[in-house]
Amino acid sequence: MNAPHGFRKWFDWFACPNCGYRSAFSYSTAKIGADRKSFKMLYWCRSCERYCTLKRPGLLPLYGLGVLAAQVPVFVLVYWLLYDGLMNVNIFWSLFWVACIFVGVHAFWFFIGRFSKEYIAVSANEP
Ligand SMILES: [Zn+2]
Repeated sequence: MNAPHGFRKWFDWFACPNCGYRSAFSYSTAKIGADRKSFKMLYWCRSCERYCTLKRPGLLPLYGLGVLAAQVPVFVLVYWLLYDGLMNVNIFWSLFWVACIFVGVHAFWFFIGRFSKEYIAVSANEP
């Protein structure tokens, strides 16, 4: 079954409050509020095809700040690895460590979401 129009698939922890389905991938979209000043994340369950949202949407800006804050040290580390790899003609190991950083950062954010995100059901006709 395909996700509803506008929903995108992400590598992100998902646990459906309607049917208990758990997955490492979520289907989500952002809906603009009626006042056009707020938005709400909506998630779609692949198993029961119902909708839910985050129990604590106030954490979303914190995730955003965390991602922004992590960019600087990750950039410096990747830059240093690639520079060192080019200077010492050992680019293979540098690329290997850059790939490890890429996987590690994604795994880190996945586990942050795994232990901090809770989902609550919303009515099916809401979107
Ligand atoms: Zn479900």
